[in-house]
Amino acid sequence: METKRIVIKDRNNVKEEELLEAAEILRRGGLVAFPTETVYGLGGNALDERAAGKIYAAKGRPSDNPLIAHVSCESEVEPLVKEIPEAGLRLMKAFWPGPLTIIFPKSDRVPSGTTGGLDTVAVRMPDDPVASRLISLAGVPVAAPSANISGRPSPTTADHVWQDMNGRIDMIIDSGAVGIGVESTIVDVSAPVPAVLRPGAVTMEMLRQELGEITVDPAILGPVSADVKPKAPGMKYKHYAPKADLILVEPKESPGSPSVMDKAQVERMVDKVQILAKKRLEEGHRVGIICTDESRHSYSEGLIRSIGTRESQESVAHNLYAVLREFDELQVEYIFSESFAEDHLGQAIMNRLSKASGYNIVRI
Ligand code: AMP
Ligand code: MG
Repeated sequence: METKRIVIKDRNNVKEEELLEAAEILRRGGLVAFPTETVYGLGGNALDERAAGKIYAAKGRPSDNPLIAHVSCESEVEPLVKEIPEAGLRLMKAFWPGPLTIIFPKSDRVPSGTTGGLDTVAVRMPDDPVASRLISLAGVPVAAPSANISGRPSPTTADHVWQDMNGRIDMIIDSGAVGIGVESTIVDVSAPVPAVLRPGAVTMEMLRQELGEITVDPAILGPVSADVKPKAPGMKYKHYAPKADLILVEPKESPGSPSVMDKAQVERMVDKVQILAKKRLEEGHRVGIICTDESRHSYSEGLIRSIGTRESQESVAHNLYAVLREFDELQVEYIFSESFAEDHLGQAIMNRLSKASGYNIVRI
């Protein structure tokens, strides 16, 4: 299949004509990758089981891993759900459009081919003007998982999408790098107490302020044992992974309530990353190091990449997947990474980094 690539120069000034062909592809059951504020999505008609099947095939994604349906306004939610619980209404009001996915009991209109056989449906209203206009023009809810081959780091630029999806889908819409860089927060409101299934840019602190009581799925915090059936089926798969072995170095005090890291902890972490990296370098391996603007000068050997500054969690989230993909291209065999405090957006950052490491975490 030939994949057409179109460029939207100014995402804040999108013209309808620019998106008509893409909308038409979606309506006739084809696949279009498009930017959102979180990561690039691989879109298909969420009400068309065959389109969902094409998404699973293009990504190589297991078909029990459900898709998120994207809408452009609140009135598009009603046909997809059985009911909107009070907590759902509050979240929609507070955080939509934005990087929050909400799980509702599903209506009969949503095919089980879209929801991995579950009787719930995940819905999000993205804030990105290109995504929003495209969905509204298509006139159908758009199922859109991240536009990467299953298991690879999510795409935050159209070039990343091209690397994975060229020849597999109908079109890629390029409007430059995304803003946030990690996938949406997921909250399940189909149970009596809302539960966070995936951390993201709508943080735990923000959710608590809005809802009060909220639980966290244990799969967010650490590996789940093989006999536990996670609430979000995607959680059981290895995710966000680079090709190299990623080893995360974390201060010992940190797990559990690691909301801050002091200078001494950071220094110890940097030392340990250096020691571990040196050993692999001496063995003759290609080694990548994930550091920050603050620690960059401490390193001298290996392929060294700053992921952002500790002063801005946003910068770290924004660069995370691009750095992992760059190391893939450079055919790095081992990546050693510093870790981050887990308050606010830090929880999402550490969730992605620890999953990418397969929970290969060295505590010091
Ligand atoms: P993505 O890979 O960004 O498309 O995210 C899709 C993820 O959303 C899945 O892997 C699940 O973890 C979660 N998800 C989607 N729909 C549901 C649902 N109905 N119930 C629970 N989790 C869901
Ligand atoms: Mg994904």
